[in-house]
Amino acid sequence: MKVQSTTTQQDDHFLISNYDYKSTNIEKNGEKYIAKPQITNFKFKTDTRIPKLGVMLVGWGGNNGTTLTGGILANKFNITWNSRRGTHQPNFYGSLTQSSVIKIGTCNTEEVFVPFKDVLPMVNPCDIIFGGWDINSMNLADAMNRAQVVEYDLQQKLRPYLEKLVPLPSIYYPDFIAANQGDRADNVIPGNNKLEHLNIIRKNIADFKQQNNLDKVILLWTANTERFCVEDPNVHGTAEKLLKSIESSHPEISASTIFACAACLEGCSFINGSPQNTIVPGVIELAEKAGVFVAGDDFKTGQTKFKTCLVEYLVGAGIKPKAIISYNHLGNNDGKNLSQESCFKSKERSKKTCVDDILESNKVLYPTEEELNIDHTIVIKYCPETGDSKKAMDEYIAEIFLGGRQTFAVYNVCEDSLLAAPLIMDLLLLCELFERIKFSKDSCEYQRFDTVLSWLSYLMKAPKSESGITTINALSRQRAMLENLVKVCAGLTVDDNLRLEVRYG
Ligand code: NAD
Repeated sequence: MKVQSTTTQQDDHFLISNYDYKSTNIEKNGEKYIAKPQITNFKFKTDTRIPKLGVMLVGWGGNNGTTLTGGILANKFNITWNSRRGTHQPNFYGSLTQSSVIKIGTCNTEEVFVPFKDVLPMVNPCDIIFGGWDINSMNLADAMNRAQVVEYDLQQKLRPYLEKLVPLPSIYYPDFIAANQGDRADNVIPGNNKLEHLNIIRKNIADFKQQNNLDKVILLWTANTERFCVEDPNVHGTAEKLLKSIESSHPEISASTIFACAACLEGCSFINGSPQNTIVPGVIELAEKAGVFVAGDDFKTGQTKFKTCLVEYLVGAGIKPKAIISYNHLGNNDGKNLSQESCFKSKERSKKTCVDDILESNKVLYPTEEELNIDHTIVIKYCPETGDSKKAMDEYIAEIFLGGRQTFAVYNVCEDSLLAAPLIMDLLLLCELFERIKFSKDSCEYQRFDTVLSWLSYLMKAPKSESGITTINALSRQRAMLENLVKVCAGLTVDDNLRLEVRYG
């Protein structure tokens, strides 16, 4: 695809697009809203040179880590496998960037769509170099077997590639994850000195980058869900305080926060795929200083994606959700870890907040704070027999016309890591792309996006936003935001779905 337009310029290194952003400023005058449409000029400058990307996963030997690494290798080497359903080809189904399309315009009234990945130059996932840590020493071939996610025949074909991959020893603070994980911890950096831990992780990152001759590295936490750390401004509030607290091995510094700090100090962006409060204010300040991004929290894979879609539909249709009751049972190691109350609480929090903004937007349905307080119950049970095929059962009860009720009972078999792996890949590819985009407002100097990369909210269960920016959870709004950003950067027109060129062209 090539964009021919007077508002777009391209040379060997950069693509610059000029965009008149139309928004509406609302002023409140007593009970009245005064709407003032306005136009702001933005320039987006994308570095089109694709870097050699390395990714380090924390929790590399887990279900997500092994499924992601093996799935990408299967695609890279076009490995086919057999099951009782026949021969299978590798694909990237479930990846927004690799398997979804974007409408770029119309050709003789026909709408034209291209793959998301083709709108702006992006890293090919098959070119990513993977590394990482795990508190368990199993090589990735054995760990994939333990995970029971990937078909046996494919496991066998991947074995020669995966058995060479062994996670680096990691930091293990037993107090932060469930006690039932203790028997996995045979690959642990010794000692209790958190500063030494930080320095070892930093060295691991620097060595990985240098040994693989990488242009950049991104870190992603896909290790166990930790309990929330007890956040204290004196401990976590600024970069300086955080580093001091690490120096004194403060007990409320979690392993995930050490990884986030190490990433920032080594000039790498950090993504938190679990719900805990890893990205404390001190981490954000470190990231800001280093000019890297942080993004979180908790991958938005099956149940929550559906929830933010269904609730958006109901509220958008003027129907009033009154109760959401979500049951999950799962039998993988994530479920085992979540069976401890402190870790469950982290997950409950991120699962519960995911519809708040959708409800709050509609004051016709929810005129008071009290009404916003709907019954939203989360239950998670560990049932080993279920393995990675997590069952999510949700009941949605909504109030309709004249006091009637509409009830949805949704049964969702999530195949957890097969949903999470392509999503993790998208997080990495989009984070890398956003590191190459700069923008300028009203002809001011170019700057990078905010440190907290809320553009990735489509992929996060409890999206972290820059301070002062409201979080958007509604799925279609999150997707439109991402789609429109890449279109704008490429110099394409943002679609308002009026389709006037087709109706009256
Ligand atoms: P998993 O238990 O299979 O893998 C986690 C891995 O992390 C294990 O191998 C464990 O040994 C390792 N680990 C624990 N503490 C560590 C540490 N300090 N350093 C390095 N490694 C450590 O879990 P999973 O199914 O791969 O999920 C990973 C995370 O992703 C969980 O927190 C889960 O809640 C989150 N998540 C998963 C999904 C999904 O759909 N799969 C969705 C949202 C969030």
